[in-house]
Amino acid sequence: MPARVLIAEDNRASLELFEYLLQAGGYGTACARDGSEAVELARAFQPDLVICDLQMPILNGFEVIRALKAIPALERIPVIAVTAFSMAGDREKALAAGFDAHISKPIDPETFVSEIESFLRKELRAGASAANAQSQHGENPSR
Ligand code: MN
Repeated sequence: MPARVLIAEDNRASLELFEYLLQAGGYGTACARDGSEAVELARAFQPDLVICDLQMPILNGFEVIRALKAIPALERIPVIAVTAFSMAGDREKALAAGFDAHISKPIDPETFVSEIESFLRKELRAGASAANAQSQHGENPSR
């Protein structure tokens, strides 16, 4: 079963791009436009991974990850920070706050999904389940 990914991002263009790439990669998505909505939706949607912009209204990314880590059902899911105009130290600050990784915007559409996938357990990767489905149905895996 491919992962369900929560995207928390207040920039509409970035949100749409992340959602498009993840859905094209076979993943389920839910989207939040501010930090408070992100925490609420994380509780309701129980995502397998969260992509979280650091600069968002109401709660910023650092406040979001603090809230997520305080929810027992969510404390172990990978959370990836994204930032625009990354400055030296952003990455270190994000990792210190509990994010699993930090990706700078503009993201690279060619590698974005595979970067995200590297934080998912094998059975949650869309490629892995597609390969399983193919071998189960005896289809040619090279398509
Ligand atoms: Mn933002």
